[in-house]
Amino acid sequence: MSETATPPVLELASVTKTYQVKQGMFGKPKPLHALSGVSLRLNRKDVLGLVGESGCGKSTLAKILLGLEMPTDGRVLVDGREIAPGERRLLARRIQPVFQDPYSSLNPRKSIEDIIALPLLVHGIGDGAAREQAVTRMLDLVGLPARVRRGYPSQLSGGQRQRVAIARALIMKPEIVICDEPTSALDVSVQSQILNLLGDLREELGLTYLFISHNLAVVEHLATRVAVMYLGQIVEEAPARDLFAGPRHPYTTALLESVLTPDPSLSVPDTHLGAAYPNPISPPPGCRFHPRCGKVRDICRTTPPPRVEGPEGHVDCHLYSAAPTH
Ligand code: SF4
Repeated sequence: MSETATPPVLELASVTKTYQVKQGMFGKPKPLHALSGVSLRLNRKDVLGLVGESGCGKSTLAKILLGLEMPTDGRVLVDGREIAPGERRLLARRIQPVFQDPYSSLNPRKSIEDIIALPLLVHGIGDGAAREQAVTRMLDLVGLPARVRRGYPSQLSGGQRQRVAIARALIMKPEIVICDEPTSALDVSVQSQILNLLGDLREELGLTYLFISHNLAVVEHLATRVAVMYLGQIVEEAPARDLFAGPRHPYTTALLESVLTPDPSLSVPDTHLGAAYPNPISPPPGCRFHPRCGKVRDICRTTPPPRVEGPEGHVDCHLYSAAPTH
């Protein structure tokens, strides 16, 4: 991985998140490892695409970055400084989310103006007039007409609601925006408008994004780097141009093949992976991907793959290990 003169604006270092979950009414709680030793670095003005199927831990990771969940182990660093549990407010001012579903993430009983201004109110920023001005600026920034401010979410289209959600995130002037599947609840025709808006805002405001998606095609629009997640682990990370030109991990290849279909829809891809996604309570031994991997070897069934570092990323797979495989 390339060295940077300044520390990453945001970093996860060996973060683990374990939940205790019960199976059935009388079952004993069992550990579910949502994240297993995840390390990620987000450099200023980068767009890091985080890709993987549902249930792989992407949203848990987003919640940890937003301070909504605490890691079981590992560290979260902002500008190289570890964020302690009591510093969530600091995170909230610098990192803002845009969630998947603009239908449920906007309070239907609040006016658009109140929704967008809410973060300022919560953090006690500005008086009424200043907040009103800030809302006007934000509506303009996200391409919504000023008249919608007195309206309610039910009066807007899906794309307009997601623009409201983006305005609400940006009113805090965050440096980092965590976009968690921001287009997957939208019609295909609207998805590219929102992706273009996010791209334009990044240029205009110098934003850094963590862009979470189950779909590599969506990430390709924006990402400068891509991290691929499988069952709570990052299995490949690389600059976007390299990853799309030459994916290395078999799971990345499968994800890419799933979006290189004639169907231009950006909906849930069919990963053609055969075996179902494993239960994270009892992940497969060895390489967690081995039951679905077309290139599986004997060693993969028993031994976790090593991390093979490259000049600008890594891949976790026995195929690239210097040690002989069987
Ligand atoms: Fe496939 Fe083995 Fe590589 Fe895992 S380690 S992705 S099973 S080849």
